[in-house]
Amino acid sequence: MKLIEPIVNFQTELTGIRRDLHAHPELAYEELRTSDAVAAKLTEWGIPIVRGLGKTGVVGIIKNGSSSKSIGLRADMDALPMQEINTFPHASKNQGKMHACGHDGHTAMLLGAAHHLSKHRNFDGTVYLVFQPAEEGGGGARTMIADGIFDQFPMDAIYGMHNWPGIPVGQFGVVEGPMMASSNEFRVKVTGRGGHAALPHRTVDPVMVAVQMAQAWQTIITREKNPLQTAVLSVTQIHTGSAVNVIPDDAQIVGTVRTFTDATLDLIETRMAEIAKNIAAAFGAEVEFKFRRNYPPLINHAKETAFAIEVMSDVVGRDNVDTRTEPTMGAEDFAFFLQKKPGCYVFIGNGEGDHRAGGHGLGPCHLHNGSYDFNDNLLPIGGSFWVRLVEMAMPLR
Ligand SMILES: [Zn+2]
Ligand SMILES: [Zn+2]
Repeated sequence: MKLIEPIVNFQTELTGIRRDLHAHPELAYEELRTSDAVAAKLTEWGIPIVRGLGKTGVVGIIKNGSSSKSIGLRADMDALPMQEINTFPHASKNQGKMHACGHDGHTAMLLGAAHHLSKHRNFDGTVYLVFQPAEEGGGGARTMIADGIFDQFPMDAIYGMHNWPGIPVGQFGVVEGPMMASSNEFRVKVTGRGGHAALPHRTVDPVMVAVQMAQAWQTIITREKNPLQTAVLSVTQIHTGSAVNVIPDDAQIVGTVRTFTDATLDLIETRMAEIAKNIAAAFGAEVEFKFRRNYPPLINHAKETAFAIEVMSDVVGRDNVDTRTEPTMGAEDFAFFLQKKPGCYVFIGNGEGDHRAGGHGLGPCHLHNGSYDFNDNLLPIGGSFWVRLVEMAMPLR
């Protein structure tokens, strides 16, 4: 590994920052203490900032030399509404909130890069440090775009990085093209006519209709879409009824659809609606079909992915960069940035969890698990990646 020495020497300080953020997790658009902490550090290091994009977002600006080149580096800051099981000293002090996705670490890695870049200035151009709120479902990236981030800071390209449990520490993973799926949700209400469970002939049973819909929709995945196009349709909730001997009036079906392309998503949404309508009609029930598109698929741009691979190889060696990492059906709102700007999103290995301090929750160190903790050994690796990305994209002449 070719880590940047001053960042390695700064690891203790960065670990302190990371653990402080971990102990004080905040949810989407409520990252007040977090964004204050980020703003305070950037200001302390003499980096100009602009606050308020995406409500709690912070953008730091480091300019050097005379080149008109510019680059955006993004970290997300929000935590999850879940209870931390870990009891080590830096475990969450906020009941029911937890940094279980490592955004505390992402923020600290970008701060580490900011500190180095502002001190050493070994580049020619402008770096925008994008500290983004509300990645976990709130679409903070979309809000920052709506608030004019790219008008105010016209960057040539933007890059993102997420820790990935299971990938060994000291390794990176990336893939050109689709790397994370679109995330969409459906809420369907079937209205029948309730009555006595012993006299079903006098009712229109919404339970039977809901069950048939849930099953028929799976045939869109297995029989209608091209099998080479990846998609998931998961019915995650069916709510209905209140008594053993009562056929209810209605049933609610809720779930999620994940795809890598809009064409597949269009097909699934259209066919789900048609199937719902026609199954309801076949049984004399009514249906209300609601489908919402949350995050688009995350598509890595070819040129920027090739460049990111070059940079990762420079930091950890080519053998430690998996350039065909398996895409995931999880979603990520960095996808919104990549719809507007060329760029690339990479995974940085978080290891298997043996880094965790005593008092961890004994569960797996997986994202969104109550026993998860970000691996502080990544701080100099991720920080070095960010700095080398800037230095190699905008070299001093
Ligand atoms: Zn997450
Ligand atoms: Zn995350």
